[in-house]
Amino acid sequence: MNLSMFINGTWVQALDGRQREVRNPATGEVIAYAAEGSAEDAKLAIQAARAAFDSGVWCDLPAAVRAAYLFDIAGKLDERAEELSVLETLDNGKPLRETKIDLSDAAACFRYYAGLITKPSGQTYEVADPVQTIVVHEPVGVCGLIVPWNYPLLMAVWKLAPALAAGNTVVFKPSEMTPVTAVKLFEIFEQAGLPPGTANLVMGAGAAVGHELAESQFVDKVSFTGGTVTGRSIMRAAAGNIKKISLELGGKSPNIVFEDSDLELAVDYALFAIFANQGQVCSAGSRLLLQENIHDAFIERLAERARAIKVGPGLSEGTEMGPLVSEMHMEKVLGYIRQGQEEGAKLVCGGNRLTEEGLGSGYFVEPTIFTDTTPSMSIVREEIFGPVLVIQTFTDEADAIRVANDSPYGLAAGVFTNDGAKALRVIKKVRAGITWINTYHNTYNEAPWGGYKQSGIGRGLGTFGLQEFQEVKQININLDVQPIGWFEQ
Ligand code: NAD
Repeated sequence: MNLSMFINGTWVQALDGRQREVRNPATGEVIAYAAEGSAEDAKLAIQAARAAFDSGVWCDLPAAVRAAYLFDIAGKLDERAEELSVLETLDNGKPLRETKIDLSDAAACFRYYAGLITKPSGQTYEVADPVQTIVVHEPVGVCGLIVPWNYPLLMAVWKLAPALAAGNTVVFKPSEMTPVTAVKLFEIFEQAGLPPGTANLVMGAGAAVGHELAESQFVDKVSFTGGTVTGRSIMRAAAGNIKKISLELGGKSPNIVFEDSDLELAVDYALFAIFANQGQVCSAGSRLLLQENIHDAFIERLAERARAIKVGPGLSEGTEMGPLVSEMHMEKVLGYIRQGQEEGAKLVCGGNRLTEEGLGSGYFVEPTIFTDTTPSMSIVREEIFGPVLVIQTFTDEADAIRVANDSPYGLAAGVFTNDGAKALRVIKKVRAGITWINTYHNTYNEAPWGGYKQSGIGRGLGTFGLQEFQEVKQININLDVQPIGWFEQ
């Protein structure tokens, strides 16, 4: 499979002809060669997006017409859902049952924003003067959209759907590790007949293509999802022309279990919170906070169930957990596991690469749980982004809040208890943007997604996610047109 970039309505290879191998993480085999764009390719795409925006070919269309394009795109995604979910599993590694959900969520996200953009918006004011004030939303302009590899298609759609609905033109950059479904999505854009230059796709390294999008004077906004270190570099690059920025960054989210919760239910969700998508989820419940007196029994049951998780290739029948996305990422995760052991944490289960029959050439790591941790350990403080759960303990409600908030991150949090008032008290004190009570990981197109502290700036999804791609303008209309007479004749 040869993957091209899509610039100004045309499929192109990189200007210098370079390509990058794309591998199946379950086998290590090359599945595609992707055009490896450079800053120069990014510049061409930015020019195309700039010209398309300035011409009004997209933003001047009535919202209902833009919505019709998005509904059409959603329908085409549904038609190709089977094919695209298989490709997503081949590219990213996650089990097919997860990529099928990603595909249906992606189509739903296009439909949500297609609907939202046609709904009433703006405000009017009767001010003291005989002036009528109207507040309207307008597109920001040219948007650079940069996403990671953990939900390649879904992260793309969370940005593309609201950005396009709002009337922006875009240059989109997928992760260099997982470009396959983005190319398929742009094939769908082409079939849907988006005007040339409206949506452009450039593949390549972050430091080249991504940096150009963040730095360019011709880009009005950059919306980024990825690691906190990269987010910081994007903020710096965006400062040149005071670009609008949205950052959805990393997390080290606490999942708090009180003694009065339904323990079997809490075990079930604790596994889902950390091991879904091999732990490569920004909102993963990667710190499990257990009330001291339930620690031993909880861990015993948790480890028993973690050991039973079926790890294998994402396309194999019955696989519950797939490989990590790349060899490099697997090495990083295994490095954290070694560091945890060296720092004195106790390995309850897992800890190894899986090399048994059929898995040896892939990047499989066992579901791993550490206990006896201390707050300063790197496995407690840093985002591992893999199937590694660390256990912390707390004594009472106040202590649970203290431990939960002891992190530079503030993306997500969960609490399990049968005391409803306590659950709400705790959640209100936890400094995080996405929270769950007696559940975990539910994500809705309608609800804002994003973090406190170093987990980001701004919100994706919902009405908030649309506003991230809009400017706000006040229009003041004089209803009594007379000279102001401020200066004497
Ligand atoms: P990453 O930051 O390494 O890369 C993300 C994207 O940024 C990639 O497309 C990459 O090419 C690009 N990039 C890299 N360096 C760049 C630079 N200097 N300038 C511009 N772009 C650059 O992250 P990753 O390893 O791909 O993804 C994992 C991270 O993403 C985790 O930290 C995870 O928590 C985070 N994430 C956050 C959310 C959220 O909604 N908060 C969702 C998914 C993933």
